Amino acid sequence: MPPADAPLVAARGLARRYGPVHALRGVDLDLHPGDVLLLLGPNGAGKSTLLRSLAGLLRPQAGSVMVAGRRLSGDDPDARRPIGLLSHQSLLYDELTLLENLVLAGRLYDLPDPRARAETVLARQALLERKDDRPRQLSRGMQQRAAIARALMHDPTLLLLDEPFTGLDAVAGDRLRALLGELRTAERAMVIVTHHASEAWDLATRVGVLVGGRWGYLGPRPADLAAFHLTYQEVARG
Ligand code: ADP
Repeated sequence: MPPADAPLVAARGLARRYGPVHALRGVDLDLHPGDVLLLLGPNGAGKSTLLRSLAGLLRPQAGSVMVAGRRLSGDDPDARRPIGLLSHQSLLYDELTLLENLVLAGRLYDLPDPRARAETVLARQALLERKDDRPRQLSRGMQQRAAIARALMHDPTLLLLDEPFTGLDAVAGDRLRALLGELRTAERAMVIVTHHASEAWDLATRVGVLVGGRWGYLGPRPADLAAFHLTYQEVARG
């Protein structure tokens, strides 16, 4: 067992190049249970590369990621079990209903009763009535909630969300914010990538700004978003 104050995520020296482009240049990150990191930065700053490295989907060329005391590596698929990812590509299959999609996910995680778990998770996302629909029959907001439902099937303690508010109207955005607020527990850490800090500012406990593959800023969430905008503009200029 890792010590009680051990970080849930410990990333050290993450580096990744694509040809001449340095997507990450030696990034460190500690996240503790209860942390919600708002991950900001201009286009091309390395946000998705960092998120995919934390998810264990991308092997950095240098550095390491520990999650819940285990090193993410291709040789230990179980090390990724604490992680839930919402990426741009939904992991929902259009040939399957919502319920079938979630049951399949539950089987992949070897859950004891995938159907019961799927119904519980769908009910929590107010999607139980739509369980026999296919993803494309749902509104964008519902699709996003369904994708989150899938990511929550195995009750991950690290939830990684890549631009979860993109494409949502104001009502769906408010609903997603409320949902993420409910998912913010003392046991779980979250990383939320967003282009608009205001979308998730109140949810965050910490803020990180990547610029050119390095932290331009990493610290507790300041109280005042308007004041932070000035900091952001300064660091984003490089
Ligand atoms: P962000 O999410 O902040 O927009 P990314 O992590 O997507 O940034 O990309 C960081 C940099 O790495 C960019 O310059 C991008 O063009 C480059 N990059 C990312 N993925 C690839 C890839 N698969 N092939 C080539 N270049 C890539």
